[in-house]
Amino acid sequence: SAPSDLTMVGAYLENRLPPSLGVPEVAFLGRSNVGKSSLLNKLVSKAGGDTARVGKTPGATASVNLYALLGPKRYGGNSNSGTLGAKPILGFADLPGFGYARLSKDSKQSVEEAAERYLGKRRELALGILLVDSRREPNADDRAVLAALYDMGVPLIVVATKCDKLNANEVELAMGTIRDGLGLPDEQPLRISAVTGEGIRDLWGIILDACEM
Ligand code: GDP
Repeated sequence: SAPSDLTMVGAYLENRLPPSLGVPEVAFLGRSNVGKSSLLNKLVSKAGGDTARVGKTPGATASVNLYALLGPKRYGGNSNSGTLGAKPILGFADLPGFGYARLSKDSKQSVEEAAERYLGKRRELALGILLVDSRREPNADDRAVLAALYDMGVPLIVVATKCDKLNANEVELAMGTIRDGLGLPDEQPLRISAVTGEGIRDLWGIILDACEM
């Protein structure tokens, strides 16, 4: 049945890793403003969650921000027992610092360290989702992030965000540019829009496959 909520587990810096939730995790990567929070919210609402609101983490330039997608709330047998609590069924890790952070050298280092540690060591990590804006040509940052993920052996899908901002011809052209620029297989990038919902079902399918759910 439908998950009910997305809840922040915590933000983690430097060499700390979040506590394990005991469920698979999906990591989201991309430059700021690419549409990451919008995509997360859309994924959760499509899954039946109604109260999810992923926003900018206040004050945190970056780190590993872990969210838990919670299953349905369970209720006890009598009126006194109340809610037994919802169990996490999937983790979403937002890695805002990885590859794209515009930070001072020092904080950039500690932020990237956190994300790198997460990507390289996290047992629960089942899939990385790299977001690129459908209207932008991939640049050296995008290529470096992709190369780093391949090196670390992270299973990866590239999605092109905000496809609703282009017409059909423009989308075709843009997907070719991104595919060539990043050296992607024919079926990537996956076209998505947090506004129209395009690609969200497909992305859920890919997530569930990767998580063997
Ligand atoms: P983040 O910084 O990567 O988390 O990006 P946000 O999700 O906050 O999105 C940045 C801006 O792009 C906001 O103004 C969003 O409303 C807009 N945006 C995000 N996704 C889409 C989309 O699929 N279509 C359109 N038209 N706008 C989008």
